[in-house]
Amino acid sequence: MINFEKHIDTKAAVLEEIKFPGIKSGNRFYIKREDKFHHAISGNKWRKLKYNLIEAKRQGKETLLTFGGAYSNHIYATASAGNLFGFKTIGLIRGEEHLPLNPTLTFAKEIGMEIHYVNRSDYRKRYDNDFIEKIYEQFGDVYLIPEGGTNLLALKGAKEIVDDIEIDFDYICSACGTGGTIAGIISGLDNHKYAIGFPVLKGASFLERNITKLIKDFTGKEFNNWHLELNYHFGGYAKIKAELINFIEEFETLNGIKLDPVYTGKMMYGIFDLERKGYFKKGSTIIAIHTGGLQGIEGMKPKIEKLKLTVKNTLKMH
Ligand SMILES: *Cc1c(COP(=O)(O)O)cnc(C)c1O
Repeated sequence: MINFEKHIDTKAAVLEEIKFPGIKSGNRFYIKREDKFHHAISGNKWRKLKYNLIEAKRQGKETLLTFGGAYSNHIYATASAGNLFGFKTIGLIRGEEHLPLNPTLTFAKEIGMEIHYVNRSDYRKRYDNDFIEKIYEQFGDVYLIPEGGTNLLALKGAKEIVDDIEIDFDYICSACGTGGTIAGIISGLDNHKYAIGFPVLKGASFLERNITKLIKDFTGKEFNNWHLELNYHFGGYAKIKAELINFIEEFETLNGIKLDPVYTGKMMYGIFDLERKGYFKKGSTIIAIHTGGLQGIEGMKPKIEKLKLTVKNTLKMH
């Protein structure tokens, strides 16, 4: 058995009531602080890794191998989990090496992850049999974890987000990348209450099919007490706009809680906008999951500063 409790503070993921700028309503909003589990294995990445780590140990594997972009929260979390719980880790990173390494990869490498770069066209083939065979040839008997950590064991972990909520509620919300987390949450609801996913990618309607399939494979059932809000991507993955950055700053001032601009900031903006438009039934309780990902802010800083400059310059012109 792995002693998770030694490093992961499962009790820290409390519910905190939150307010939105300029909104007074009869609805109650809470955030579930899954970002507090651990500074590096935060939020949903912990949920998704947990049963994979148990399974890797059970199979006697010594090395975890996984995939991700250069700023990936999953790469960061896997590197840290390997370091804490006794696995070697290998990260196959999409694209070319950029030096100096960004903060995400610097951290991953410093705590022992072996990093390899895969060009974009090969990266697209990462789940093809040929590619996977080559991985085993090159790296030996590794435990493979898909990009973003999403597989059926990840759903088993994400389902526990719902099991751990001790208050009654009407809606539960999460940001979506691969959709694994929301799929686990929906499985945990078992057709009670309602889930809303906020994809951070542009044109993410394909996720509806992926999520439906993940849920079907995991539970053997289909549910329709959920939908995706496809219009809060702010231009696409890791794309930002002044309105989003302003919202994140206002939200932090009001609630003392940091959100990241890639995932939780977009979800929270979406919830705020839905509330503004009167979407939620009067008297509802809405829970937003803080899926973590705060490590990503560091790598986004140049982009945020540039955006602020552009916005200022535009203002000056008037
Ligand atoms: C990875 C990530 C997500 C997306 O999770 P999926 O299970 O891939 O949908 C959401 N929020 C944060 C902070 C993440 O790091």
